[in-house]
Parts: sequence; structure tokens; C-alpha cells
Amino acid sequence: MKQWYKVIDVALCHDCNNCFMADKDEFVDNDWPGYTAPQPRHGHRWIDVRRRERGTYARVDVAYLPLLCQQCQNAPCEEAGNGAVYRRPDGIVMIDMEKAKGRKDLVDSCPYGVMWWNEEAQLPQKCILCAHLLDDATWQAHTTRCAHICPNVVMKTYFIEPEEMEKMIVDEGLEVYLPELGTKPNVLYKNLHQYTKNFISAGVLVDGDCYEGATVTLRSKEGGIACTLSGAGVANCEDTSILATRTTNFFGEFKFDGLNNGEYTLEVDAGGRKHSSTVTVDDQSLNLGFIEL
Ligand code: SF4
Repeated sequence: MKQWYKVIDVALCHDCNNCFMADKDEFVDNDWPGYTAPQPRHGHRWIDVRRRERGTYARVDVAYLPLLCQQCQNAPCEEAGNGAVYRRPDGIVMIDMEKAKGRKDLVDSCPYGVMWWNEEAQLPQKCILCAHLLDDATWQAHTTRCAHICPNVVMKTYFIEPEEMEKMIVDEGLEVYLPELGTKPNVLYKNLHQYTKNFISAGVLVDGDCYEGATVTLRSKEGGIACTLSGAGVANCEDTSILATRTTNFFGEFKFDGLNNGEYTLEVDAGGRKHSSTVTVDDQSLNLGFIEL
């Protein structure tokens, strides 16, 4: 059966917060019977643009992560709710406004921290993926207010079969945020590594000048030379420790992104001048400055 999905491209978000404002415009002081009570004027961030800075001057970048209810297939809030939270057949997770009355405890059941307490209405509240609009045939945009307003088209909504989404996940390299939670969200991210992982970057100098065209190899500490024998007895060998290679640009710089924590070996070959060092990534991106050869 078709489900609603949202795909968010972290690389495109510039923190303009138009999505946040559209959400306020849609829900503050507006009652959507059967969907949600009005959002309070202050305190709630049903969509929250989180920020993460990586690296150090002058090799630094900033990533923004629009975070909202992940519309989990295995939703901890649904489990905690005992009927106060339910998942519609189209994948949208809803809060039952009668059964959830007074259930402040549900706010803490969400591991993403995207459920909020409405003191006046005595209700837990969260993003409902603009279900009231998606259900409305006269709403011609067929998407959420946040996706509709975003000038960079950071967010897209899809109403498709799960098999189609599985294919899209593979084809476009989509990921879920905090997969270790096992919540199976219907919100997926593109370029998530810019927010969740780290990079190693440096410049290569040869005799004091920026060196364009140096080959830089990043190796893991595991792996090595692995060979297989063909039927004719010919050995086919490959170095399985190589994770990636880069060529330095006009400014002599290179960057390896999307790295997990761990120890790496960095090798530079600048026209025969060589360098090798061990680099450890530990929750921080690394600007190694200049490698002088
Ligand atoms: Fe529930 Fe939080 Fe998952 Fe949304 S992100 S479905 S509020 S557990």
C-alpha cells in the first residue's frame, strides 16, 4: 500500500528557516479538528533546523539538518501510547487528541526529541506531515507546507509504494537519521554524512608552493593485499585497505568526507615526493593544515 515519505537533502539546506515559519503559519492559532490542536505561540519547534560546524579555519563547513517527526514505522511513541498514538495506513503517525489528553509522558518517549507538550491543551504535539492538507483534494500543492515554501527544494514528499522507496533509497543513497534506534522512519535524508560524519582535509606544498595534481590515498588500518586465483591459475590481487584516492586541486588541497571514527593512514605522492602519516578521527573533522614536501 502507498505511503507518505519525506526526503530531505542536507546539502541544500541554508538555514533560512522558511520551513519553520510556514509551520508556525499553518498551526499556530489554527485548529485542525481530527488532526491536531492549535500549536502554542512559543516553545514548540515541530520542524527544527539543527546546525553542525565541522573542521577549523580555513577548512570549515556547516551542515543544517531539518529535524521533524520521522514518521517511524516502529514508533516508540506509538508503543508508549497504548492507543494514544497511532500510525495511519498511509504511514503518517498521529496523536489521538482524546486518548492523549494529559499524557505528558509521551514527550519523552520520542528518541528524536521532536514531540512537544502543549500546556494549555494538555496534549503532546508534533509534526503531522500536514496530514490535513494531504487529505484535502483542493490543496493543489500535494505536499507539506514546509516543503512547499522551501526556496531550495530541500524537502520532497512522495506518496509511493514501499518497494518504490526501497529502490529510491538504493539509487539515491538515502539514509535514515540515527539508524541505531531501529525506528524505520518514513523520513529519509540525502547527504546525511555532512551532518553525522567527518572529513579529513589538508593542503600539499612542494618547495613552499601549492602542489596541484598530487595523489592522496586514504587507507584503513584493516585490509591488505587480497588475491584470488583464476581457473587458469592467474592471481588477481587488490589492495583492500584503500578506501579512496584524491587528486589535489589548484590550491593543493584535498578532502575525504563521510568518515567514521577510527584510525586511517594518509599517503601523499606529489611527483615522487612522498608522505605517510596516521590520522585518527574521533568525533571531529580534521584540518591538517599543510603537508610540506
Ligand atoms: Fe514518534 Fe518521535 Fe518517531 Fe515521530 S520521530 S513517530 S514522535 S518516535
